[in-house]
Amino acid sequence: MKRSAAIALIAGLAGALAFSTALAAAPRRLTIASGSVDGVYYPIAGALSRIASDDRDLNARVTVATSGGSVANAQLIRSGEADFALLQNDIAYYAFNGVTLDAFAGKPVKNMAGVFSVYPELVHIVVTRASGVKSVHDLKGKRVVLGPPGSGTEQNALQILGAHGIGEADLRVAARLPWAAAADQLKAGVVDAAFFTIARGSPIIADALGSGSLMLVRVGRSAGETLARKYPFYTLGEIPANTYKGQERAVTAPAVMAMLVVRSRLSEELVYRFTRAVFENLFQFHAAHAAARGLTLHTALVGMALPLHPGAERFFKENGIAR
Ligand code: GLU
Repeated sequence: MKRSAAIALIAGLAGALAFSTALAAAPRRLTIASGSVDGVYYPIAGALSRIASDDRDLNARVTVATSGGSVANAQLIRSGEADFALLQNDIAYYAFNGVTLDAFAGKPVKNMAGVFSVYPELVHIVVTRASGVKSVHDLKGKRVVLGPPGSGTEQNALQILGAHGIGEADLRVAARLPWAAAADQLKAGVVDAAFFTIARGSPIIADALGSGSLMLVRVGRSAGETLARKYPFYTLGEIPANTYKGQERAVTAPAVMAMLVVRSRLSEELVYRFTRAVFENLFQFHAAHAAARGLTLHTALVGMALPLHPGAERFFKENGIAR
């Protein structure tokens, strides 16, 4: 072979090789559905996307999508528009099993699997001092924001009101509004109360309560127990005194768990690597938000409402964590 031909052949081979590695290395595009930008799901999903995008084995480009919250996220998994999503464990259960909520009754979201539980979310009931509302019973006849459209919050609000014998028709106004609009309308006194199922210490509540004209209302123990009996994923949690400025007393509040779910069609290997990346980078994850700091291998399956994805199951089994 002539020298020039040999060089051309080698160059060609090298080119082909480079091309095929480039093909193999094309990062997989993945989307995580979160919530609104002023919620806590959004920064948590941001941290997950950075950790996953930086993981060399995973070789993925992960982006965060905003949404109305838990109910909307289950729908985004159903339609395949999201690969991963953060949502409340109660909503995940209703969606997967096709029960309890109109959005899912008889229309189960079967293509959704569990990855891990992230942190507890407390139902914060914020009222204006001017409304004179001291308990959930007093919300009858008032102007109430139930939560963002498509949120889990809206469902929690309806269930909590229901446990106190209050239907939507008993409210003077029942609005569905994004977090920021709800907070603004509370501060302006346009509404009397708003529900937020969100991490303890979340900035949107801290900012609203910082105005001094608002306060938190508790859900009493017996109503909390009635709720937990009827809807199995509620526990009765607490917002300790001084979590927010001017909050003198601890407030009991129904709680659920925020969890990460995945489209079940994603491969075992991909979900395994994603899960491993998060638990190998917990330090980075914990820095995303105070709510993230509670996540460890040992809390990862608390309140898990769905069958685990085989990739997540493999990771937890390997690490000696069983359900
Ligand atoms: N748990 C909320 C919901 O689905 C979303 C909370 C957040 O965005 O931090 O309604």
